[in-house]
Amino acid sequence: MGLTHQSTGSAIDTGELTIIRTSPQDKVIALAGNPNVGKSTVFNGLTGMNQHTGNWPGKTVTNAQGKYVHNYKNFILVDIPGTYSLLASSVEEEVARDFICFGEPDAVVIVADATCLERNLNLVLQILEVTQNVVLCVNLLDEAQKKKIHIDLQELSHLLGIPVVGASARSGIGLEKLMDSVEEVSFHQRRTNPKSIVYPEPLEQAVSILQPAVEKALTKPLNARWVTLKLLDWDDTLFHSLSDYIGISLLKVPDVAENYQEAKDLLRRSSWSDEKIRDEVVSSIVAKSEEIYQHCVYLENKAYNHRDRTIDKWLTSKAAGIPIMILLLGLIFWLTIEGANYPSELLSSLFFGLQEHLVVFFHWIHAPEWLTNMLVMGVYRTLAWVVSVMLPPMAIFFPLFTLLEDSGYLPRVAFNMDKFFKKANAHGKQSLTMCMGFGCNACGVIGCRIIDSPRERLIAILTNNFVPCNGRFPTLIAIITMFFAGVAALPLQSALSTLMLTGIIIFGVCMTLLSSKLLSKTVLKGIPSSFALELPPYRRPQIGKVIVRSIFDRTLFVLGRAAAVAAPAGLIIWILSNVMVGDASLLSYCTSFFDPFAQLIGLDGVILMAFILGFPANEIVMPIIIMSYLCSGSIMEFDSLEQLHLLLVEHGWTWLTAVCTMLFSLLHFPCGTTCWTIYKETKSIKWTALAFFLPTLSGIMICFLVATFARFFGLA
Ligand code: GDP
Repeated sequence: MGLTHQSTGSAIDTGELTIIRTSPQDKVIALAGNPNVGKSTVFNGLTGMNQHTGNWPGKTVTNAQGKYVHNYKNFILVDIPGTYSLLASSVEEEVARDFICFGEPDAVVIVADATCLERNLNLVLQILEVTQNVVLCVNLLDEAQKKKIHIDLQELSHLLGIPVVGASARSGIGLEKLMDSVEEVSFHQRRTNPKSIVYPEPLEQAVSILQPAVEKALTKPLNARWVTLKLLDWDDTLFHSLSDYIGISLLKVPDVAENYQEAKDLLRRSSWSDEKIRDEVVSSIVAKSEEIYQHCVYLENKAYNHRDRTIDKWLTSKAAGIPIMILLLGLIFWLTIEGANYPSELLSSLFFGLQEHLVVFFHWIHAPEWLTNMLVMGVYRTLAWVVSVMLPPMAIFFPLFTLLEDSGYLPRVAFNMDKFFKKANAHGKQSLTMCMGFGCNACGVIGCRIIDSPRERLIAILTNNFVPCNGRFPTLIAIITMFFAGVAALPLQSALSTLMLTGIIIFGVCMTLLSSKLLSKTVLKGIPSSFALELPPYRRPQIGKVIVRSIFDRTLFVLGRAAAVAAPAGLIIWILSNVMVGDASLLSYCTSFFDPFAQLIGLDGVILMAFILGFPANEIVMPIIIMSYLCSGSIMEFDSLEQLHLLLVEHGWTWLTAVCTMLFSLLHFPCGTTCWTIYKETKSIKWTALAFFLPTLSGIMICFLVATFARFFGLA
């Protein structure tokens, strides 16, 4: 993978990463690091708004590039995926490795976490084997200071042989110095002098046999020692990338092939199998990291991560882990339900107060009655409902969830859920993709890229829809509040709603596990792969930033999408209900067509049609139901959930209708955006169709069973 250096700005599709340079003097800097070390924070801090994102050529991994100017010189920063090593066990690692090794960046900046430097040094040492032009940015120094971890940056720089800059990127500290060092390394060719790792004797001997031949055969500026090591410690994907890059297959060069055999024979004589070579390479790097760490880091408080371990003892314990997780989820739901009531009422009375003024305005401009009705009763009222019912819960739920995400709790969820997913022959990280699905199933589906095994990734994609996205939350919350919370005394109402909502989510999780098991026993057979889960240190989230981020990135985005779809949907429903064919409106023709089947599964024709029309976005299912009832009902005004409840009851809703609507909301086809995303991720109509039918058929079956059971025993 090379770079396409461009000065025209027009894209050339060469299968290589396109770097848009404004002049040939621009320097390309790769930004590398383990995940969660503040790489994005450094990237944003340096490039500000000057960024653009795309995909790595031929890969589904996102690529971000940004520009910054320092001392009148241009730098293009390429953010490569966070990775623990260059051993490439996932697509992200492969992309990172190939860019560092074959992308010819002018320098590599490695961001490391000061609070767990030892582990981060493994990646640093691996990159130093590939290139000398490296600057190490030791980030999160503020966190390290709090934990009383002292790092001798000068000594670290001396031992590694490269410039080392300390930083607290979140407060912008150290970024200026970092830019100075990058300039020195990339422009002034400041000589860095990393010392090679010395491997045990037979391997070093083998390297000395092979390296001269490799050096002669290389057609591109690559570190011959590193290439030699990689040939001996065989890695298929690396060999392919290497051959593509240099344009020849090294092992077909006679001199290389001959010496390769000799080197391999020597290793074999010393009983060094391929596996042993890799083990020894990894152990040598780990040992070197440890040695450097011991020299440069001083722990004033040896039990610095004592607090994290104590918290983890509870949060990931066998007995308490899952109950605490459910309690936390419940707490978030409770705060959402309890907190959303008042602003919801306030917003709806505001919007419905405004409705009267709108009608007066339309009369004042002499708009025809049908137009007034269509725009106010059709479009405006649907929009008002969407905003007043959806905005408050989202504005509470998202920031709370993001806080949990930022504090480092979610990997603990994956840890707790791992054994359940293993039993379902799926991947523990699937629980993380489910958490993303709470926000938006399309995001959850994209998030499945964190799962390396294609089989397990597909299982996670196909079952992501079993967790309700925020588009379905308001519907669930509204139905629970109207039909079930009312049976409890006032102070207990939100507790009961919380309990029900949590129950539904747990049911969704059980359905996910069940379907995962079903898939892995049928169309996606296989055994679960093992993985090392990183439990990052807990961090105090930045409340202000979290609120801003979740309001802008999630709440307003989702609300905007809902409103954009709800407005035309409101219009269509209004037209359907006002265009008469004979005695009945088009709407009633459609709903009576669906009615017999819908009744079988505990719904009615209107509800089923709303789910179908709600395919573009789940957010509009409830508004469509209301619109349809309003068009044929006697209540023309409603400004609270109580009146909405009355409207539904008037149209035959019972507790059974409410339960089946909630179940069907949880278990039905993914929305249009999610289906499209699934298709793009799997590139297969077959898998997209399965993702569509799997939840829909489960929903139909379960609703049918519940409705039949309730009717049989005379419960409804
Ligand atoms: P990435 O996964 O490496 O891109 O990491 P991010 O840039 O997303 O940062 C991960 C978390 O670390 C976020 O919550 C950041 O706000 C936080 N973070 C980043 N830099 C610093 C820092 O210098 N100090 C502190 N305390 N937190 C930081």
